[in-house]
Amino acid sequence: MALPHILVLPFPAQGHVIPLMELSHRLVGSGFKITFVNTEFNHSRVVDALSERGGEIHPMIKLVSVPDGMESGQDRNDLARLCESMLLVVPGRLEQLIRKINESEVDKVTWVVADQNMAFACRVAKKMGIRTAAFWPAASALLALMMSIPKLIEEEVLNEDGLPLKQGVVKLSPDMPPMDTSQFSWNHTTEPKLQKLIYQFVMNNCRATKHAEFIISNSFQELESATFEYMPDVSPIGPLIADARPDKPIGHFWAEDAACMSWLDEQPANSVVYVAFGSIAVLNQHQFQEIALGLELSGQPFLWVVRPDLTNASHDAYPEGFRDRVASRGRIVDWSPQQKVLAHPSVACFVTHCGWNSTMEGVRNGVPFLCWPYFCDQFLNQSYICDEWKIGFRLTPDDSGIVSSEQIKVKVEELLGDEELKARSSMWKEKANDSVRVGGSSYMNMNRFLNAMKEQ
Ligand code: UDP
Repeated sequence: MALPHILVLPFPAQGHVIPLMELSHRLVGSGFKITFVNTEFNHSRVVDALSERGGEIHPMIKLVSVPDGMESGQDRNDLARLCESMLLVVPGRLEQLIRKINESEVDKVTWVVADQNMAFACRVAKKMGIRTAAFWPAASALLALMMSIPKLIEEEVLNEDGLPLKQGVVKLSPDMPPMDTSQFSWNHTTEPKLQKLIYQFVMNNCRATKHAEFIISNSFQELESATFEYMPDVSPIGPLIADARPDKPIGHFWAEDAACMSWLDEQPANSVVYVAFGSIAVLNQHQFQEIALGLELSGQPFLWVVRPDLTNASHDAYPEGFRDRVASRGRIVDWSPQQKVLAHPSVACFVTHCGWNSTMEGVRNGVPFLCWPYFCDQFLNQSYICDEWKIGFRLTPDDSGIVSSEQIKVKVEELLGDEELKARSSMWKEKANDSVRVGGSSYMNMNRFLNAMKEQ
């Protein structure tokens, strides 16, 4: 009998590829076959990182690629151009890919699971008579906000181009977190043409989402309960965290430094400050140095992820003598196996940019946060962490936009000494784990989703 075959399509960014790869592992565990479609650019990064770290992708997950339409030297961090280009090229290439699979393989593509940020693929699937679902990788409250754009335009909160007409914090329902319309991705740039391109891309995806039979999200009912009351059509199935064994590579763009795990083994329980700002955030040299000095001042052991492109300066951007002074208690890596790090008993707190994946990974592991959002929805995630769930503190930049070394030291001390906050972190860890256990809310939603995809 043919296996149910799912085509999975992430938006081309690390924080989208990882959760969809985790979902793919979950699906192969339930008897599905996966074709995982990256852009060519990211496909080579994933394959290179895999060969550097050693390890093979699960045999039931086939990695394939489609072009994103950009030239080889063009900047993929230019979100507007990337979106514009993908919209022209990817739908057609996706259709060709599905046709080719369905003509040549016994296991035809039966479902397309597309990142909601690539929901134009749901339209392609629908046209080809293939069932489809949309996956939302960020806070579900943000999806609610995006789906409410027509209403916000009607209420004159936004203009027709999605720009704020009123200075504004929006509350979609009394118990939902306050959200600022500046958190929309198109407001990250101030250039009107680019704003418009991103806005149109997002709106196109919102309209295409209606073709999806399921909208699933990487969250859980208890974590954003007011949002799921407001938006009952969305089924949270998270936290989506692979058990991160070495034989389960999850699509990293950089090879993980596995040696930091044995270093963590040598540290006292609940002592290590883990510092990582995800895959996109960039710091200037002044800020970079303040972090280094703050970690030194804290006196705690620390594990700090310094991606090769974290600062526009070189690795020698460290304060003079810093690396020698902290060599006995500080570990600096290019890229960590973050999920394993956060699950390690020696980790005491997480200095984070509040990307949604990092947020979910911290919540699931009961690790308290020091929040340092960089852009867009990371501010929403910060207010969830600090104001709603109360499992972290804010790091607050001064008038020149810098978080000082002194503030880092003080906040680390406060956080590590706050037993009530740590107890709340443990409570949320329990709730997260309960949601994915047999009978839990995410478990039940996932089962409904899996059963629908198994129907022939
Ligand atoms: N990550 C990792 N190693 C690192 C830093 C980050 O594996 O050294 C992973 C992290 O576990 C998360 C993803 O990269 O799954 C980052 O996603 P997030 O949404 O937190 O931030 P983004 O990169 O989208 O800003």
